[in-house]
Amino acid sequence: MTAVDVVEICSRLLAIDSSNYGPDGPSSEREAAEYIVGLLEPAGYRPEILESAPRRANVVLRVPGEDPTLPGLLVHGHTDVVPVERDQWSVDPFGGEVRDGYLWGRGATDMKDAVSMMLACLLRWNEDGARPRRDIVFAFVADEEDCGNYGAQWLVSEHPELFDGVGGAIGESGGFVVPVADVNGVLHRFYPIAAAERGIMHLAVTARGTAGHGGSRNPDSAVAKLIGALARVADHRWPIRVPATVQAFFDVVGPTLGISPDLSSHEGFDATLLQIGDLEDVVRSTVQCTTNPTVLRAGEQVNVIPSSAYAEIDVRTLPGTEDETLRILDELLGDDVEWRFIENRPALETSIDTEWYRAMRACIEQTDPEAVVVPRLLGGGTDAKAFGRLGIACYGFTPTTQDPQGRTGSGMHGVDERVPVSSLQGGLEVLYRFLSTV
Ligand SMILES: [Zn+2]
Repeated sequence: MTAVDVVEICSRLLAIDSSNYGPDGPSSEREAAEYIVGLLEPAGYRPEILESAPRRANVVLRVPGEDPTLPGLLVHGHTDVVPVERDQWSVDPFGGEVRDGYLWGRGATDMKDAVSMMLACLLRWNEDGARPRRDIVFAFVADEEDCGNYGAQWLVSEHPELFDGVGGAIGESGGFVVPVADVNGVLHRFYPIAAAERGIMHLAVTARGTAGHGGSRNPDSAVAKLIGALARVADHRWPIRVPATVQAFFDVVGPTLGISPDLSSHEGFDATLLQIGDLEDVVRSTVQCTTNPTVLRAGEQVNVIPSSAYAEIDVRTLPGTEDETLRILDELLGDDVEWRFIENRPALETSIDTEWYRAMRACIEQTDPEAVVVPRLLGGGTDAKAFGRLGIACYGFTPTTQDPQGRTGSGMHGVDERVPVSSLQGGLEVLYRFLSTV
């Protein structure tokens, strides 16, 4: 057991309520940032706190590598968490409690576990008198759980010089283990590494019409126009498109499990999902765009027809499909409504034919010689979208290992979030090896 205790670090981070309530809410990434600085400064590091707004704090530091000619690596993790429904929890979500082999609390799997591992690596270098091969920039950022405008997006826009010379990056959503049985019942351990993300388009849609009495005939109703447009969008069946990352995923998963994935149709894909066990979660939303109306506002009173109606649509696009998606959306929405972007962040897809990917795979395989490493595309999004703007090759790689007693992490964005203690400790070993040798 090393003197650096990753569980203790994580427990303390979990005890800090850094809930992200959006731009107008009370946010306290500052406290987490101060904790990080207090941990690193005594170890000889010079972390810098950069505030994008009062108390919206980011911490960045650069660890010089032995070979300054190598491209640098960025290691990024967010310190904010999504809010909790406290009365639903069976433990204090900000207690940082260790019980039954788990560390409990909001952020235990997303992603204070990984942030703790990153911090533990830094402390261990200091203890071992070691340093990485290449420059490594660590960014502990605010505001990932909302839109990144106070965190990664802000850092990239306002302080791109912090990332000078950086060629690759690792962040959340990869490197964990997913055990799946093949057709003969033999268990295989898959380790997905994120190499792509769908894009995010958030649209605001407004319909205008003629206001009037709720009991009168009105052929020009804003509400009727809006729901017509939204219904067309919600009902649209988006075509299957298989991104290179998803194809590469199935090229490995198919032969390993002894199945023949069918990615040619919606029906074929749905049938394939049923054959891949818990990997279903990893690829469910990765071969088509999705367009979900989520916000709806119109009217004040039941007997008054309002002059306008408003909605928001959450659109997720696959790499390379942005233009096509917009063209179809425009047709579906029709001429009766107008729309604008609230947010438009293109999809991201990084090659897996890189030194970075091979190094991550090698580190996982050294820990688990039977590991099956696969690339994945994220249906959602992370801060990688921000750092990708700098031309950095972004991956999701925050490793955790399988718990010997079968415990698994759970509760992400939900209730009773927890991470197995052994997974955290095992993950640290993988990450330390990667960061020290890459
Ligand atoms: Zn996260």
